[in-house]
Amino acid sequence: MSVYDHPDFDNHEKVLFATDEASGLKAILAVHSTARGPAVGGCRMWTYENSSEALTDVLRLSQGMSFKNVLADLPIGGGKSVIMKPAGAFDRTALFEAFGRALNALNGEYMSAEDVGTSPEDIKVANRVTQHVVGLPSGTGDPSPVTAKGVFLGIEASADRALGKSTLSGVKIAVQGATGHVGAYLVRRLHEAGAELFLSDIREDALKALATETGATIVEDPDAIYDVQADIFTPCALGGIINDETIDRLKVKVVAGAANNQLRTREMGAELMKRGILYAPDYVINAGGIINVMGDIDPQFDAGWVEGKLLGLKATLGEIFDLSENEGRPINDIADEIARRRIARAVAANADAA
Ligand code: NAD
Repeated sequence: MSVYDHPDFDNHEKVLFATDEASGLKAILAVHSTARGPAVGGCRMWTYENSSEALTDVLRLSQGMSFKNVLADLPIGGGKSVIMKPAGAFDRTALFEAFGRALNALNGEYMSAEDVGTSPEDIKVANRVTQHVVGLPSGTGDPSPVTAKGVFLGIEASADRALGKSTLSGVKIAVQGATGHVGAYLVRRLHEAGAELFLSDIREDALKALATETGATIVEDPDAIYDVQADIFTPCALGGIINDETIDRLKVKVVAGAANNQLRTREMGAELMKRGILYAPDYVINAGGIINVMGDIDPQFDAGWVEGKLLGLKATLGEIFDLSENEGRPINDIADEIARRRIARAVAANADAA
């Protein structure tokens, strides 16, 4: 497996492969950029087929964190970690202590929070052996409600732009991963705003309960979510779901959701544009969680600051939409360019100061 030649390597500053035989830990910690501060991003635990798949995931997620953090104008860099979930039974406490020791090897260049497959409680276990964690239950805790709020604001801005709707009342929204940490908070907000909801998830009981609570329609086959005749598709489960197999099935005017790395390839952004579908870049509108976690790094980042930053996300999204319209170029390319420019500026400023 090649690392430096990996298509998603993108000049990562560091990639640490950590193993601990006793606990079964196999983790990859990726630091994309520390130009603007210590890299911060969650730790994902997932059943990967092999280490190549885990490497691809962590590199893409880590770059996404860099772009997310810089577009939200946070004084941190971007990184991410993945744990290859051990097959069969394992000692979760021993695993996350071993993960904490791996964090120590990076000397604070990377700080981990929770992500898919991990929880603030796991991060608390890692905290027994390392200080390089954020999002503890005793701190800012679960970032999901704030992520959901940012995504909601992004959906509002997208509906305004693509549908000419100043509210979400009566807007048809298909949510994938509706009962997840972010999905459930978001669905309740969308319901309160009067949206007509179509929900999918693989957790049938939770889905039934949420649909009953919100008067939503259940999409029985999770794969059929791509075919729903709606105004907006809101992915809140997996990455890579906008791809050659799904794009022509979409019958919506907007894709805007919480899931990281929604576009399987960069070209999918141009394909959405060709089809007249407005794309709200995932890392722009799902930054609420990381914004909230900043309170663990410095108390000056309080609730009022978080609110201001969430409104800032909406403004940034509007600027990206404007540039895309004016220049006739895909929205994701515009967002990536702004992020890269800002990181390059920080690298140059650091070099000048050295
Ligand atoms: P989660 O694991 O709680 O939720 C994911 C949901 O998707 C689960 O309910 C799961 O059952 C469902 N799901 C899985 N496969 C599915 C399928 N094929 N079809 C339909 N549903 C399916 O995760 P989360 O924390 O809510 O995060 C959701 C997404 O948002 C992830 O991509 C994550 O990286 C991203 N994200 C989360 C946060 C946060 O604050 N939690 C912040 C930024 C981005």
